[in-house]
Amino acid sequence: MALSLSCCNSFNLHNQVKVSQSFSSKKCLENVKNLVHSTGVPSIATPPQESLQRGNWVKLICGASFEDVLDIRNLSLVYTLAGVDCIDCAADASVVSAVNEGIEAAVDIVPLRRPWVMVSVNDDEDLHFRKAAFDPSDCPLDCSRPCEAVCPANAIVLKKGDSLEGGVINERCYGCGRCLPVCPYDNIKAITYVRDAVTTAQLARRNDVDAIEIHTNGRQTAPFEDLWNGMGNSVSHLRLVAVRLNMLHNAQCDQLICLISNVVILPIFKQISLPDVGKSTTTLMNTMFSIMSPNLSCYNLWQLDGRPMSGDIGRGATREALAFAVRLAAAEDKPPGFFQLAGGTNAHTVNGLKEHGLFQINGNVEDGILTRKMSGSHNSFIGGIAYGGYARKIVGRILRAMQSQHGLACVEDHPAYLSAAVEEALALVGSVKCYAELGIDRD
Ligand code: SF4
Ligand code: SF4
Repeated sequence: MALSLSCCNSFNLHNQVKVSQSFSSKKCLENVKNLVHSTGVPSIATPPQESLQRGNWVKLICGASFEDVLDIRNLSLVYTLAGVDCIDCAADASVVSAVNEGIEAAVDIVPLRRPWVMVSVNDDEDLHFRKAAFDPSDCPLDCSRPCEAVCPANAIVLKKGDSLEGGVINERCYGCGRCLPVCPYDNIKAITYVRDAVTTAQLARRNDVDAIEIHTNGRQTAPFEDLWNGMGNSVSHLRLVAVRLNMLHNAQCDQLICLISNVVILPIFKQISLPDVGKSTTTLMNTMFSIMSPNLSCYNLWQLDGRPMSGDIGRGATREALAFAVRLAAAEDKPPGFFQLAGGTNAHTVNGLKEHGLFQINGNVEDGILTRKMSGSHNSFIGGIAYGGYARKIVGRILRAMQSQHGLACVEDHPAYLSAAVEEALALVGSVKCYAELGIDRD
């Protein structure tokens, strides 16, 4: 029976993950191999840049501040098997190693093409580069603990004793900010940080790092230039440089996050502008490209961010990312490079792109320094989609179920869970890769 590859939001984990006593681990692992083989996951012969040109590039975002190495390893394994082109993670040596370990484990199961490994850095304050923090001894014992309930990363764990104990699990907090406005006592603070150019340069020189993404706030180019220059010739080791732009300022993003947490009412929403992709935006992008171009020897990509860290919220979250793409499509003087959506992307993003006539549509996009000399090069206007919170959510609940039954574990050691996780990941990645059009029989 051919299975639909559409994502199912009403997924019932305990129905999906039935660890049958009679279903041996070996058979489950064979099931994973067969699933991957029959789906059309890109082979070793298909390099990731080809996906950008075709418009079916998919990137997994582990989170610029997410540092739970076991989760990151397992997510990387699952999404490598599903055929992602790139895995984006925190610019931290142990996190990079965890991503690569997950990729190696996946390639051991099915020999397929390795995704590029990307590290995310910032040139200035950015919502993705912060951690929540509070002292639980300041919390009233009778607090209903809405912070714990709202956290999508299970990063707040509290225990009641004579006082409240526990707090934020630092490595799991990815800075989404949803806990900040729900605390009735205003106890939670956000601690921001900026990745430094020297550490970034060291990571860029690693053989197992292929790409960097620079988060820039778009207000000025000086911090961007400082970071770029500070990285020196380390960028010559890279295959791809991405610049992440969000035309909403941090305060506006936080207002959107408050909306997500249902604590700010509609009138504020009306004050929030959608991405302004007018002349000033494209001028800024072209200025950044001119800063990079003297020592850029690889592909470059613009990540068009809508609502940051919100893809797991629901259908509407993808609206701003789509609006960004639509406005950029109409803009003149677009900068060289590929374009990719992120920020609020989820199972509805592909359909949104189709509705706007932007899904895998050639746009005469100049794909940057590397191929600008190639005449007659036609690329998809939108190179692909990056998935963060939504991708982590659909696979994360399976990993949580595994953990509740078996404790901390590598997912391939429990192939029934691996199989269920890969099915979820294939459904999401497959909507961009068009696996369904290959007539895949997933049963
Ligand atoms: S809600 Fe977001 S910011 Fe708060 S602890 Fe959880 S991940 Fe961190
Ligand atoms: S909501 Fe605020 S006061 Fe209540 S437990 Fe969380 S941090 Fe403490």
